[in-house]
Amino acid sequence: MKRILITGAAGFLGSHLADRFIAEGYYVIGMDNLITGDLRNIEHLFQHPNFEFHHHDVSKFVFVPGDLDYILHFASPASPIDYLKIPIQTLKVGSLGTHNLLGLARVKNARILIASTSEVYGDPLVHPQTEDYYGNVNTIGPRGVYDEAKRFQESITMAYHRFHGLETRIVRIFNTYGPRMRLNDGRVIPAFIGQALRGEDLTIFGNGLQTRSFCYVDDQVEGIFRLLHSDYSLPVNIGNPDEITILDFAKEIIKLTGTEQKIVFQPLPENDPLQRQPDITRAKELLGWEPKVSREKGMKLTYNYFKSLSKADLEKQDH
Ligand code: NAD
Ligand code: UDP
Repeated sequence: MKRILITGAAGFLGSHLADRFIAEGYYVIGMDNLITGDLRNIEHLFQHPNFEFHHHDVSKFVFVPGDLDYILHFASPASPIDYLKIPIQTLKVGSLGTHNLLGLARVKNARILIASTSEVYGDPLVHPQTEDYYGNVNTIGPRGVYDEAKRFQESITMAYHRFHGLETRIVRIFNTYGPRMRLNDGRVIPAFIGQALRGEDLTIFGNGLQTRSFCYVDDQVEGIFRLLHSDYSLPVNIGNPDEITILDFAKEIIKLTGTEQKIVFQPLPENDPLQRQPDITRAKELLGWEPKVSREKGMKLTYNYFKSLSKADLEKQDH
């Protein structure tokens, strides 16, 4: 049985990856310090014979007994309000944490895939974003703590690949959504749905003409699964190219939820990218991958999940 370590396993993407690898017959070791994650995302796995959980901060030395075939490094705050609230931890998990996991991969002779992001392109001057675009990041802006941690993460991963011959994979993830996102994590989808469910107005930052392209979680997991098993070590964009303005997206949410609330406009956060859309030619050619779930279908599934949460979850505000 293949053994895989997943960091950030109690988070949104990590928990879905744990489910997928268990379903594929792997032994999964989940690791998380729960700084933005929630054990409820993986509690259904606790009795599973092929799952174990380690409560640990990966920015500190990481020890895992036994063999490891694969490592997926997904630990990191991922939502803008999370990483603005815990900027130093964000920098540490992308840098020190990645260094620890690369070291572990070397010792175990394991293949490692790291979760990078479309944020490495910053506020992009090239549209759609191809993997060979170098990006436009303000190193000292508020988002720099996340963007630069991820850029360093890519650099150190390539250095381990080139210098130590380590088997590495880099996925550049574009905005991904679905069940198990934290309702109060501030990202636009939980923010709008939470507002609709609580009977509050939908808050658009800026004029709403900025764009994003939303990928359903099952598509993202499939892309990551294929990339891990490919022989390609340069970065690969995984995301859904279906681009929409935040204003049009808010209107879709109003229709989906039937809320009678209105849209209100608030200031655009500093360095908020104006446009984002993945060019997925590389993923199509290398992995035979493309997204299958439409925004209409994915948003229905996501809305149903948020509706099923308790009133206490809905009211909880940790920001
Ligand atoms: P998430 O916040 O739901 O999950 C992150 C998990 O990492 C949490 O469970 C958190 O507790 C854990 N974590 C954070 N720091 C840690 C540390 N030092 N040690 C151990 N665990 C730690 O976020 P997510 O959306 O699931 O994102 C997962 C990964 O994917 C992140 O690396 C993120 O940068 C990347 N990513 C996500 C998206 C997206 O749209 N969801 C887009 C681009 C990149
Ligand atoms: N956004 C918004 N209202 C909200 C939350 C977010 O208008 O209540 C905007 C945000 O400014 C950004 C887009 O929605 O332009 C996507 O934000 P998110 O935090 O989901 O992810 P990002 O792609 O910026 O990392």
